[in-house]
Amino acid sequence: MKMKALVLTAPEQLSLQEVEVRKPQKDEIVIQVKACGVCGTDIHMFFGDKGAFQNDYPLIMGHEFAGIVTQTGAAASKFKVGDHVAVDPNIYCGQCRPCLRGDVHYCENMTGIGTTVSGGFAEYCTVKERAAYLVPDDMPFEYAAMMEPVSCCMHGIDRSNIHSGDTVAIIGFGSIGQIIFELANNSGAARIIVIEPMEDKLLRAKEMGAFLTINPSSKNILLYLKQNKIPSLDTVIECVGRKDSMEMAIDIASNRGTVMLFGLTPPNTKLEILAFEQIFKKELTITGSYINPFVSQRVIDLIASDHIDLSKIITDKIPLKDGVKVFTNPSYRRHGKIVIGNL
Ligand SMILES: [Zn+2]
Ligand SMILES: [Zn+2]
Repeated sequence: MKMKALVLTAPEQLSLQEVEVRKPQKDEIVIQVKACGVCGTDIHMFFGDKGAFQNDYPLIMGHEFAGIVTQTGAAASKFKVGDHVAVDPNIYCGQCRPCLRGDVHYCENMTGIGTTVSGGFAEYCTVKERAAYLVPDDMPFEYAAMMEPVSCCMHGIDRSNIHSGDTVAIIGFGSIGQIIFELANNSGAARIIVIEPMEDKLLRAKEMGAFLTINPSSKNILLYLKQNKIPSLDTVIECVGRKDSMEMAIDIASNRGTVMLFGLTPPNTKLEILAFEQIFKKELTITGSYINPFVSQRVIDLIASDHIDLSKIITDKIPLKDGVKVFTNPSYRRHGKIVIGNL
């Protein structure tokens, strides 16, 4: 059977092509893709940036997707045709030392759907059935497709030491910052402070219920917090990945606080921090978050129970046939979360 797919054949060479739907092996299922989110990683791969996944061409990208099961392999018994599923694109081997220790996101033999093997910017995608999760029939496919990015954020939140009643600051309020906001709220943060230079995003933060919004280009943050009687920032989550904002996160975190460096930062980025004043004396915990081990089911339950509002986070739905322009037209990158698919 043939399908349409966005095929990347070299850096910046992406086109809609007709290709064969791969037949499922015994333990695989075929999914008719209904929605596939565009991630910063896809943009990096499109441009052939170093530090993005080491992929071979041609490649069908897309690792944030959901759809309907249309075929099952001979030994695939988890799903039936017609089931709605979302995909966790990171397939670990289950045999290597990190896997056996439960650190599956450090698997030495990891396969990435949409990064090392064909992904979801296509009408169909054939995947191992263990990569798929059942989602309720009434969950919109574009929400189900957000299982992957939300699960990356949830792993970050799990590592952020947020306790009920804490004050949390979020630096950067793109789609990831907004998901982090919802999850911090769910974790019991009493006050969430959003630091972001774009006024329209600050407005969005106010609408979502931010206690305080700060434009760092016009305000001295520590002074402004003091004026607004914010005594401490217990957790600071950096969602940008820039040297200056990571240094800011470490600077503004309070004594015994946690700094979560969540924004994807280019390799070889060096930070300048004062070891005594900013870490030692503050007993600061500085941590990171890598991929999304064992959180997908919790994320589906969170979305299904309406504990996270994805309606405003997804800004554009683009049909597959127009998908190339999302990569070639830079204006799309200023939007929020873009979903490509058959919606
Ligand atoms: Zn991604
Ligand atoms: Zn492994």
